[in-house]
Amino acid sequence: MTAPAAAQDQPRTILVVEDEDPIRELVATALRFRGFEVVEAASGSDALAAARNLAPSLIVLDVMLPDLDGFALCRKLRASGDPVPVIFLTARDDPADLRAGFTGGADDYLTKPFSLEELLLRIEAVLRRAGNAQPETARLIVGDLVLDEDAHRAWRGDAELTLSPTEFRLLRYLMMNPGRVLSRQQILDHAWDYGFAGDPAGVETYISYLRRKLDDRDAQLIRTVRGVGYALRAPGDGKPA
Ligand code: CA
Repeated sequence: MTAPAAAQDQPRTILVVEDEDPIRELVATALRFRGFEVVEAASGSDALAAARNLAPSLIVLDVMLPDLDGFALCRKLRASGDPVPVIFLTARDDPADLRAGFTGGADDYLTKPFSLEELLLRIEAVLRRAGNAQPETARLIVGDLVLDEDAHRAWRGDAELTLSPTEFRLLRYLMMNPGRVLSRQQILDHAWDYGFAGDPAGVETYISYLRRKLDDRDAQLIRTVRGVGYALRAPGDGKPA
């Protein structure tokens, strides 16, 4: 008997467990947008059933659920021998709670409010560690622009860029979507802290900061698409074929 072939080619399923509808839907939408299969559960019992029936690649698990708390749920999974990676979402920042979470078998956790980009990075990192991630490196490269997610550093050519945390997240989001036109609202949703009552006009300000740091040379990387948004293009990509 041979092992089933190419398990890593199957779409990666993420189970998102959260009873607060807006948060669950936001996370699920962001993950689908990134190419994951997503299954949603709004209670601990539904989550347990889904985890057992669907064998997801990873679970994003809210700690505060109406029936069974996230820690207890994770302990149940571990007790039944399920090694599925778990990232907790927690509104509590009590270290005792977090210790309880890790003792209960968490792989990582995020404290609310969190940014969607941060969650996506943690998911990729946990999946990489678990050995079933796409063969993606932690480096994003567009033209002569390089961003190292793990080291939290970015370069254009040989010159390292000095970026604020918001500028870094903005650049990362643009680099994750090279050539795609991103609206101000999309940028707000993906590159700003979750829960930030963002004003799309603020995006314009940060784009201008980022441009000043990136584009002080001949080949401009961040293009404005009037009335739509912004796109990051490697020099030469904007020309018609
Ligand atoms: Ca909750």
